[in-house]
Amino acid sequence: MGKSSKDKRDAYYRLAKEQGWRARSAFKLLQLDEEFDLFANVTRVVDLCAAPGSWSQVLSRVLIKGEKFGRAAWEDREAKFRQQMLNVFSPGVTATQEVARADSDELKPRKDVKIVAIDLQPISPLPGIITLRADITHPATVPLLLKALDPDYEPSKKNQQAAQPVDLVISDGAPDVTGLHDLDIYVQSQLLFAALNLALCVLKPGGKFVAKIFRGKNVDVLYAQLKIFFEHVYVAKPRSSRASSVEAFIVCLNFQPPKGFSASLEEPLGVGHRLSNMMTERSSMLPIVAPTLLQSQQSGAWDVAPVFTRVEDQDGIAEVEVEDVSVPEGNHTRWIAPFIACGDLSAFDSDASYKLPPGHVSLDPVQPPTAPPYKRALEMRKAKGGAYGKTTTK
Ligand code: SAM
Repeated sequence: MGKSSKDKRDAYYRLAKEQGWRARSAFKLLQLDEEFDLFANVTRVVDLCAAPGSWSQVLSRVLIKGEKFGRAAWEDREAKFRQQMLNVFSPGVTATQEVARADSDELKPRKDVKIVAIDLQPISPLPGIITLRADITHPATVPLLLKALDPDYEPSKKNQQAAQPVDLVISDGAPDVTGLHDLDIYVQSQLLFAALNLALCVLKPGGKFVAKIFRGKNVDVLYAQLKIFFEHVYVAKPRSSRASSVEAFIVCLNFQPPKGFSASLEEPLGVGHRLSNMMTERSSMLPIVAPTLLQSQQSGAWDVAPVFTRVEDQDGIAEVEVEDVSVPEGNHTRWIAPFIACGDLSAFDSDASYKLPPGHVSLDPVQPPTAPPYKRALEMRKAKGGAYGKTTTK
């Protein structure tokens, strides 16, 4: 959040400063949590592409401090109010549940919380967060992350997974946008694959993965690929994410790697043909549990494409069955992930401009950028004497 802004952007921008968040993105994560209960039963989290750190702040405040936000906080207030009413109208009557919820204003920190945040940029320290400065697309980052999660990790043992697996991996990664739409979407998808690959190395079965995507033409192929690894895949758009932007978040729940799958540091997904091979490999399967919804666009000629079906064997282990079916030509086989708009309806509209309240004072950013990519350009411009160079006076 730049210092020069006059707070005229949107309500979330101003709210972020008022509430002490390092970036307005904090509201996106809070609204995603409100919809999907992301933080339920979660103690180990990896926050990818985390700078300046508003998502890590949310994690720190919810998991380490035990603060409540959004619907959870509202439910607490309502429970307290009901308890007060009970005291007024039926003194002496205590509903145990009510009492339990009424005192939840106290912070309830969780035990054994471990949060690792990674970014190319330095992240100013946050309570309880391990920060790493690294590139998530670089293979060397995986062992770094595994070591941060588990100090006993030995990088020499190849393909070793974290001994202390992770409940939730979140990634808000975004490249510097060039304005060339297809290029931006391509680079974003590479970040997403890097995030997914890291997630596959550290997630425990049942774990969750949330990542930013740019909704491009072929995004439905991505949904089908994610469906190989997760029971539920949703596309979510928090109200704090501008409707005018192609940004959305994939929310993948219940990590169930196909039988025999192990994440590979040598052959990451998104590089080579590993993922497409997985999608076309046939396996001998047992009864169908939850067939995915397949749609094909009408376009005349027919082609052969894989259909994905989650199945379970006798041990209840999920696998993916792939079956070739005829679909219209042009690679139009799609798995439509349910689209969910999240955030309370009373939430601010991020595309709207709200009138500033009378006497509004513009606040300083909570955390000025540590090493923004434009820092060098600013220094050079300053050395030159400003945007137009030094003016010479006669
Ligand atoms: N979630 C963050 C927050 O709440 O403060 C905001 C993330 S910001 C939108 C996107 C971040 O992605 C940037 O800080 C950028 O440095 C990071 N990023 C982009 N490419 C990356 C890469 N290859 N490895 C690590 N971080 C990357």
